[in-house]
Amino acid sequence: MNIILFGAPGVGKGTQAKILSHVYHIPHISTGDILREAIKAETPLGIKAKVLMDKGNLVPDDVMNILASDLLSSERCKNGFILDGFPRTVGQAKALDDIFRTLNIHKFKVINIDVDRKIIIERLTDRFLCAGCGKIYNSTIDQFKAGDNCFKCGGKIFQRDDDKPETVIKRLEIYFETTEPVKKYYQRAHALLDVNGVGEIDEITQRLLSALGH
Ligand code: AMP
Repeated sequence: MNIILFGAPGVGKGTQAKILSHVYHIPHISTGDILREAIKAETPLGIKAKVLMDKGNLVPDDVMNILASDLLSSERCKNGFILDGFPRTVGQAKALDDIFRTLNIHKFKVINIDVDRKIIIERLTDRFLCAGCGKIYNSTIDQFKAGDNCFKCGGKIFQRDDDKPETVIKRLEIYFETTEPVKKYYQRAHALLDVNGVGEIDEITQRLLSALGH
């Protein structure tokens, strides 16, 4: 099963990708998570990406295409994968076609998770994370303050720099200008499935599973 989860930041791609990864026993490949790990480890990629990511900008296509090619060619992806956060530009979508051709991958599903822009802004600015296990907290639902410890693993709860309100607006502008055209790219190829991303997490998982023919 080769799945590309598509949608604006904050539609729940990461949450759903983790669940689908357990259901199908395939790795969740999040380019955002990999870049954040590179930033933590202060690798050359991380140092380059940090300046761009903190401002809500995209990392250039040439860098991302090499990263995606390396990830998808790795042993862990040989039985399938869930790609989250890539492709984000039409250039990346074309590069992904080439990667698939090289790897002899002919079947894949692209699922677009659809959520209204106003709801996305609320979700992103309310979103906090545990630095230890990555658990997602919501400031309007969960009882916590930034700096508290995660109830699951004890790690510190923090807000991503790029989830601060001014950066969220910038990320959404970039999404609608640069990333949304990727939807049309896959629609033209009749490869896009649309799923409503508003509702309870379980409900959305069920919609995704039925779109995937589970
Ligand atoms: P995400 O966690 O998917 O929201 O990604 C966080 C940030 O990482 C994005 O705002 C971009 O700065 C960067 N990023 C992740 N994936 C890509 C990509 N495919 N192309 C360019 N930048 C990316």
